[in-house]
Amino acid sequence: MPPNAPSSFSAADADALYGVGAWAAGYFEVGDDGDLQVRVGDAHASLPKIVRRLEGTGRSLPMILRFPQILEDRLARVNGAFESAMAEAGYRGRYQGVYPIKVNQRRVVVETLAEAGAAWRTGLEAGSKAELALILVQDTHPEALIQCNGFKDDDFVRLALWGRKLGKNVTITLEKFGELDRVLRIADELGVEPAIGLRYKIHARGSGAWESSGGDDAKFGLTSGELLAVAERLEAEGRSSCLKMLHAHVGSQITDIRKIRVAVREAAQTYVELCELGAVPEYLNLGGGLAVDYDGSKTTFAASANYGLRTYAETLVWTVLEACDEAEAPHPVLVTESGRALTAHHAVAVVPVVDAIGRTRDPVPLPPLPDEPNALVGDMEELLRNVTVKNYRQVYYEAVSNKDTMHQLFDLGYLSLVERAHVERTYNRILMRVRKVTRDLDYVPEELEDLDRWLADTYVANFSLFQAAPDHWAVGQLFPIAPLHRLTERPTRRATLADISCDSDGTIAKFTDLRDVARTLPVHDLREGEPYLLGIFLTGAYQDVLANAHNLFGRVHEAHVRIGPDGEIGIERFVGGQKARRVIENVGYRTDVLLEWLDQEITEAKAHGVALDEADEAELRELYEHELVGYTYLE
Ligand SMILES: *Cc1c(COP(=O)(O)O)cnc(C)c1O
Repeated sequence: MPPNAPSSFSAADADALYGVGAWAAGYFEVGDDGDLQVRVGDAHASLPKIVRRLEGTGRSLPMILRFPQILEDRLARVNGAFESAMAEAGYRGRYQGVYPIKVNQRRVVVETLAEAGAAWRTGLEAGSKAELALILVQDTHPEALIQCNGFKDDDFVRLALWGRKLGKNVTITLEKFGELDRVLRIADELGVEPAIGLRYKIHARGSGAWESSGGDDAKFGLTSGELLAVAERLEAEGRSSCLKMLHAHVGSQITDIRKIRVAVREAAQTYVELCELGAVPEYLNLGGGLAVDYDGSKTTFAASANYGLRTYAETLVWTVLEACDEAEAPHPVLVTESGRALTAHHAVAVVPVVDAIGRTRDPVPLPPLPDEPNALVGDMEELLRNVTVKNYRQVYYEAVSNKDTMHQLFDLGYLSLVERAHVERTYNRILMRVRKVTRDLDYVPEELEDLDRWLADTYVANFSLFQAAPDHWAVGQLFPIAPLHRLTERPTRRATLADISCDSDGTIAKFTDLRDVARTLPVHDLREGEPYLLGIFLTGAYQDVLANAHNLFGRVHEAHVRIGPDGEIGIERFVGGQKARRVIENVGYRTDVLLEWLDQEITEAKAHGVALDEADEAELRELYEHELVGYTYLE
């Protein structure tokens, strides 16, 4: 076929269809060979090739591919954006990021960010005692912040203050007024000067799905009065130097830069006011919220953001600088706690499609109709013969109405199962024909949008949504999804996705789209004996840690992959997914007891006359034990 023939399909077409260039932030791209590629700097490698490499060593799908280089690059980009913005604005302070580990506490993520972050004094943030235990012993830069947020008890505070004794730059954020007493008391006990941060309940709200994390109703934070009371108490005790940080966090995935500017202005003004009272916090911490453009639309839609890293950094720097300069206050060290923006891009869930189900697929043969079928059967066949560009709307509505009638007649016993099956089949054919005649029209009525959804396949993939992308189920968050290969072939079908859990919620029927939310995903026809792999992208933030073992599908295998300068694929580490026994033990069973119970079942069955010889028993036991140590996914 000549390259420009209308039915040819190029890598560029695939890029546009799946929006890769728009959401991938440069980390993924469609290769000329039709494979999706991962790219970091000049190095790139094919994702299907990485998967084949892993499969070649006996690893099975589904699996998560993690690219530590992407984490390192995210750090470099965020820090670079602040460095440029500060240089340009003449900001007389510096930027110091903090990674809140609740976003992804996986070892490779925390260690990669701590290690690579040493160059920029990147710190870590904990919101619980367990998280503090974890971050306190990481190898961070001596000036990096070890930030303690969240509600605290004595032990939390004590451990934090011990960290300070060890010479770490530990800051304790007061989330509520009552925590001040606790911190001062334990600091006196330990004979250490605490570094205190004040979480301020700013009035400004975020935007997007997590809008209510900030604002007057926020769960955490001190009111203006409490802020003043803390400052006064510290001053009265001659401990003003303990007040090291003002902290404001308006929420996550803030989609609108204008909301960020308003919140930062409020936080900066509060900082300035504190300075005028004589309490000069060294750090101004503006929290998280830096959004990821999951659909690539650059809008304020929940899955997007109307700004990029550069605009974000410039907005923070200029807003703080202006507030400070107006009041002649010193420029504070600017801190942000970006988690999502650092981690989302580094992980891809690779899921293989194992089956396709659909209304337009190979129909089973139907038994013949009775000699005098119900008139509805003939009416529908008549409609099928009459679909034209001119009357498709009328035909469509009549078919929909006939289908409703069919259900009523069937329920009342006037229509047999055979007749119903024929009517259903004809209905599907009518819809396919309507779609065919409307495909090339400039304008298609909105009502017909349901048509694509009705005619779409369900592609069943070997994964659990509750592991791979729990936020899609919980809060409807969208993640970009695309085939990892065959991208120089035109996808001829449309599908929604179903996972292999037995939960009807385990489906994906909303997809990222540059203009809107798509209800189906363009896919290729499955080929006998050939794998068809889909990638669920940008799942590195929050998804790993919110994942749950619904249906006892456990954590999936993961590979940490580094790409060499010439595209060599280096598998740094492979972490096996959970075996069935692990997830079973997590719900309170012991596998040795289960095996005893199995023996009891065998004994009882034999007592009831079931014929089982020793070989049968051994076979069953072996199968059962094999299951317990097996992967929880289809193998
Ligand atoms: C969750 C959280 C963050 C991370 O927010 P992102 O939007 O993921 O960057 C930062 N700071 C605090 C206090 C948080 O609770």
